[in-house]
Amino acid sequence: MSSAFADRPRGRDGGGTLPSSPSVFIALGSNLGDSEAILEEAFARLATLSDHPLLRSSLHRTEPVDCPPGSPPFLNAAAGLVPSAGLTPEGLLALLQGWEREAGRRPKVVLNEARPLDLDIIAFGTEVRNTPLLTIPHPRATRRRFVLAPLAEIAPGLVLPGERRTVGEILRAWTQDAGAV
Ligand code: AMP
Repeated sequence: MSSAFADRPRGRDGGGTLPSSPSVFIALGSNLGDSEAILEEAFARLATLSDHPLLRSSLHRTEPVDCPPGSPPFLNAAAGLVPSAGLTPEGLLALLQGWEREAGRRPKVVLNEARPLDLDIIAFGTEVRNTPLLTIPHPRATRRRFVLAPLAEIAPGLVLPGERRTVGEILRAWTQDAGAV
């Protein structure tokens, strides 16, 4: 699996490099229940899928975007992993959806309603999917600051398939754009 880095991602201590570059990136979010504990558990589970130590961002408290009125704020984060042999995008999605249900997520009634756990595949190496079940790279990854900021923390040099700029460059451009959410 190739990964598309303009420079190498930073390790957990923010300084060193990992022996192999993470190529699979997950966005995590929670705005219901004990969000911090729920995200910690999700990080721990994601680590079991990685052949190298999980890259994990800090937790970002963010205001809800495109959510029903009165929705609580979110905790958002990003993780990067080196996929264990045999892990496919579809297999990963099935795992993530199972974990969302285990965390108490109910079938969606209202668009973007509060949820204990939301796990989205942002990128799976250079794989591209456009099926009813799975779109990768995630179509909203570069349009949501709450996804981009944690991702830029762990992989500023990542170039998502179909993009020319790095995640860090896109975030910097957004920071100058008053309309970014
Ligand atoms: P959400 O409400 O954001 O959790 O959306 C869940 C739905 O998005 C599920 O039906 C998934 O099959 C679909 N989906 C499409 N692409 C992705 C992706 N890259 N990561 C996670 N879910 C996805």
